[in-house]
Amino acid sequence: MNKTPAKSTQCIWSGEEEYLLQGATQVPVVHSVGFGYKDVDEWQKVALGEKPGHIYGRNTNPTVHAFEQKVRELENADAVTSASTGMGIISSTLFALLAPGQRVVSVKDTYGGTNVLFTEFLPKFNIEVMLCDTTDHDQIEAEVAKGCDVLYLESPTNPTTKVIDIARLSAAGKKAGATVIVDNTFATPINQHPLSLGADLVLHSATKFLGGHADALGGVVCGNKDLVHSVYHYREINGATLDPMAAYLLLRGMKTLDLRIQRQNSNALSVAQYLEKHPAVEQVFYPGLDSHSGHAIAKQQMEGFGGMLSFMLKQNDFDAVRKFVPRLHYAHAAANLGAVETTIGPPATTSHVECTAEERAAMGIPESLIRYSAGIESLDDLLADLDQALSIFS
Ligand SMILES: *Cc1c(COP(=O)(O)O)cnc(C)c1O
Repeated sequence: MNKTPAKSTQCIWSGEEEYLLQGATQVPVVHSVGFGYKDVDEWQKVALGEKPGHIYGRNTNPTVHAFEQKVRELENADAVTSASTGMGIISSTLFALLAPGQRVVSVKDTYGGTNVLFTEFLPKFNIEVMLCDTTDHDQIEAEVAKGCDVLYLESPTNPTTKVIDIARLSAAGKKAGATVIVDNTFATPINQHPLSLGADLVLHSATKFLGGHADALGGVVCGNKDLVHSVYHYREINGATLDPMAAYLLLRGMKTLDLRIQRQNSNALSVAQYLEKHPAVEQVFYPGLDSHSGHAIAKQQMEGFGGMLSFMLKQNDFDAVRKFVPRLHYAHAAANLGAVETTIGPPATTSHVECTAEERAAMGIPESLIRYSAGIESLDDLLADLDQALSIFS
């Protein structure tokens, strides 16, 4: 069997075989901190990386390794490493690859924590960060051409699902000699493959769709061996290691990744179409809608449009959000996303809590915007729930 298995098959089988002990059909959670050797020469070979194996839990662990390999195969990458959270892998990646005097080009709409790295922490180390308008591809290309060591992209973005042309900008990054990094959290490897679009590294908050059950934190990065090894080396020293129990929960969650994403893709599209026709709704942001400004690019680079959407109420104030949100029965009002349960939250309390109302408006985030992470519930129940909750505005 030389044929690469389908993603649904990879979600279940990839990465596991090596660790199925004594006929077990499931990967064990290996809590051991140390790994013992009777043969000191063998120990040394493993420690020097000349032989596969594990030495110490801060560096590598069998359960963590199985999880990493599953993601690596889905991203069709040469190498992979992980961290304790999405921010753990993002900060490890940036600090591993950058040095004082270098320059990063990115966009204004990256994930909130990533934006804090760009505006607060990297500048402390004399690393210049240029944040461009997310959909202004000409501006991004011009800034990259001026000199760029890392081009950092994210698509679709949080919370207004802006879409970036990954192939076009990866080509620009390559031309400038930059390392191109893409945060693929919102799309997942089921819907989008940044590496095949030309990116050097693809990373995820595994906390979201990969795990899918909002019960474990994790982060993962995939790409070429040298780059990934640099990130691994920094992470083994900064100590933001993925915990084996979390790795197990993420690995288990990933077995249903393809099923969940197919359902979330279709639920989100139907919810977006429903909301777009509703008189109490001013605007809907979803890359799968014809009305979305990034729809053409999304259609080209995504296999599905994802489970994330956002919408703006006609009554554009926070009071409308305050009244509407608690009326939904089938949606947790919470900061996370990508879980089997539908989850909603206004950016004013989640991704953009640190901004003032004026700053949010300047970023194109209206006060009545609601982020909606479609779960895998029955579509009929989700639509009926939205219907009764929106009825307060009629
Ligand atoms: C949540 C999120 C992160 C950060 O992940 P954590 O696991 O919370 O640290 C990074 N990028 C995106 C797009 C996210 O949604």
